[in-house]
Amino acid sequence: MEKPPDDQDHTMVLDPPATRPERQEMVSQQLRPRGITDPKVLEAMATIPREFFVPPSLEREAYLDGPIPIGEGQTISQPYMVAIMAQLLQAKDTSTLLEIGAGSGYGAAILSRLATRVIAVERIPRLLEQARHRWHQLGLDNIEGVVGDGTLGHPLQAPYDGICVTAGAPDIPTPLLRQLNPLHGRLVIPTGPRFSQVLQTVRLDSQGNMVATSHLSCIFVPLIGQHGWEG
Ligand code: SAM
Repeated sequence: MEKPPDDQDHTMVLDPPATRPERQEMVSQQLRPRGITDPKVLEAMATIPREFFVPPSLEREAYLDGPIPIGEGQTISQPYMVAIMAQLLQAKDTSTLLEIGAGSGYGAAILSRLATRVIAVERIPRLLEQARHRWHQLGLDNIEGVVGDGTLGHPLQAPYDGICVTAGAPDIPTPLLRQLNPLHGRLVIPTGPRFSQVLQTVRLDSQGNMVATSHLSCIFVPLIGQHGWEG
């Protein structure tokens, strides 16, 4: 079946990694030296055009080693943070992943290269609309964007092989634990006070109890919702 003309006009092909030196430098200078070793994560980070996910006026800063404002008081996370969260998920080609906090859409774009399917939830409709447009333009058709309170997860497609929360939570939202595959699911989430968190991975043991591992200190924008902070 032919695609409608609109699709043909907007779909672009991902850059071959070697065509953007600054993206290669990001991989070799910001990611590899800090312990990002998963070849699929490195390949995704070298392929997805980060400049496409920042406001046009900040395109030149797209590959700097830090977060960048994307409007609505939100940010696209530091490249290293996106990469370490993706690596900690230990996704397989067959995985279905849930991302809470789609923001610019960049993190979901990276995850879409590691898994069969990505559901990305965002509470601010305008941000999700832009993210959807970017995914569409890049031909990333295995990402589904959902507007809503991600602290409730997205039960419709549960259980998930991995859940990645890209906003700081006061504590682990229990609905997310219930939507994790009990055998091998991994939840990656920053938790702690509003202005300083610890990045954790959480899985369930054979009794269904939570087993958490702490990785590094970080600062994310707040996770706002029923099982998060008050807005
Ligand atoms: N993954 C994003 C990216 O690649 O641009 C990072 C976005 S930012 C660090 C975190 C996002 O979480 C913001 O866009 C914010 O609106 C969103 N957020 C906060 N609380 C949320 C909630 N309860 N449900 C869904 N999204 C939420």
